[in-house]
This record gives sequence, C-alpha cells and structure tokens, in this order.
Amino acid sequence: MKPDKDINSVNHPCFNVNARKRFGRVHLPVAPRCNIQCRFCDRKFDCVNESRPGVTSGVLSPYQALVYLEHVFEAKKNISVVGIAGPGDPFANPSQTMETLRLVRQAYPEVILCLATNGLAIAPYIDELAELDTGHVTVTVNAVDPAVGAEVYAWVRDGKRVVGSQAGAALLMERQLAAIRALKKAGIMVKVNAIMIPGINDHHIVEIARTVADLGVDIFNCLPFHENKGSAFALIKEPSAADVAAVRKEAGAYIRQMTHCARCRADAVGCLGDAQDTGLMAKLKACEHMPEVPDSVW
Ligand code: SF4
Ligand code: SF4
Repeated sequence: MKPDKDINSVNHPCFNVNARKRFGRVHLPVAPRCNIQCRFCDRKFDCVNESRPGVTSGVLSPYQALVYLEHVFEAKKNISVVGIAGPGDPFANPSQTMETLRLVRQAYPEVILCLATNGLAIAPYIDELAELDTGHVTVTVNAVDPAVGAEVYAWVRDGKRVVGSQAGAALLMERQLAAIRALKKAGIMVKVNAIMIPGINDHHIVEIARTVADLGVDIFNCLPFHENKGSAFALIKEPSAADVAAVRKEAGAYIRQMTHCARCRADAVGCLGDAQDTGLMAKLKACEHMPEVPDSVW
C-alpha cells in the first residue's frame, strides 16, 4: 500500500477546505449512461437553469472535452482539478472516460485528475487510473446494508445482467467496498459521498461513515437529499440543516467530514459555489471551435 498523501496539502477544493477559494475544478460531461438506478436520480441534459448533480448543458466526446478544456484554461486561471462526474457514471461509459483521462493527462501533465463514481464497475480500471496519476476518486455509498440499499436503488446492471432490489444493492455494496480498498492500495485519495435521504437511509449514514473509515477513506461527504419532482422520491423533503449537522457531528467521530459541498452539476466549472460557474459550456457548445461528435463515438 502506498503512503497516504496529506489531505491538507492537496490543491483540490473538495478534499481540502483550505483550497476551496484558491482553486477551481472543471467537470467534463463525457459519461451520459448509468449502470444503476438510484430512486432519487433524474438526469437532465441541455439544462442551464438548474444546479445539481446529473444536470448538464450537453454531453461531450473525449476529443470535444479536450477542446473545451483549452477554452476553460484560457478563461479561468485557477483550475487545478479536471474531473468526470457524469452526468451518468464514468464506468458505464468506460471507453469515453478512459480516453478523456488519457487525452487530458497527455496535454496537461500537472493537472489533478478526479472522478466521481458509484463504484460498481471501476475495478478493472484502477491500475490504469493509478498509472495516469488520477489523484482523487469519489465513491457514492448510500448504504452498507442491502436491506437499506434496496430502498435506495431500483436496480443494478452488471454487464448484461440486471439485478433488482436487495440482490442488486448487495452486489453494488460488495463492489463499492472492494473498489475503495483497491483505490487506497493504489495510493489514490478517496472521498465517500453519502446522500442523506429522510425516511430511507438517514438513520444509516453514521454506519456508512464508520464502515468506510475502517477502509482508510480520507474524507466523508454527507450530502442532503435534493428534492426532485422528476424522481421516484418526488414526495420526500430535503432534510433540515440541523439534522444534517447532527449526523455529520456523529459521523465525525469516525472520519473527517466535508461540509462545504456545493452539489455541483456534471458540467460545473470554477470555484465551488461560484454563481456563474455553469454557463461556460453552454456558450462554447455553439462556438465554431467545438467539433461535432462523430457518430462513431457513440
Ligand atoms: Fe443517477 Fe449517479 Fe445514481 Fe447513476 S449513480 S442513477 S447517475 S445518481
Ligand atoms: Fe466537490 Fe461536492 Fe461539487 Fe463534487 S459536488 S465537485 S464533491 S463540491
């Protein structure tokens, strides 16, 4: 196992709260498909008015993403992190994800590469992620008990096999925990996100924190459920700030807490929480420098 890096010294605005005002991140939306169905998820493409995960103004091919990145670096000088956070899951779109990371690493040897995934299908790619010096990976773990997981996930697709309810949740959980172990062994800094969903898994978040702390996870991000009329959880309300704070405090006994998450879009760019950090790609999409996606890409 490689020695851990010091989280306080990384220039990643999500992992290190002290870096959040100085450094920005850009998400490249190259991964439209997903391999699981979270009951709270409603992905929206081509939306410029909503700010939450799963929403993007467009989907880019790896080559388009590289062209877009040139514009981003010209427009914003403090970007330290290039990440892939959907709008689906990076490893439900592995060729697009890995090609993008290779292109970015080749063009920008110094940049921090980052990924956010549900962890189901990352395992075969961890060695190459380490070779590409991918510094940071976020795995979203909403349950470490299949009975709770069955409430959160409608199904899980493993290759051509679709597994429903509790068996699907059990498979996902097993893959997530194995992936976290392998990522840590490869020397990659790992954050775990857990969406706190009232009445579904809010009583279980501390147990998730305790479990992933034992695996050496670097930081834990308990995110409040985002009300979403288009999802199966349309009637569930966002938890109160006090309830989220209480869970974070309890979970903090086991693992460092992230408390500054901005619940970003899949095409966010700039510093966390910047009011105008979502529109750059919308403008560039129409620009003459943006190549069309060839049909063969999909
Ligand atoms: Fe949506 Fe992400 Fe869940 Fe996939 S893993 S269903 S993109 S929230
Ligand atoms: Fe960072 Fe949270 Fe935004 Fe992800 S959603 S990039 S963890 S601030």
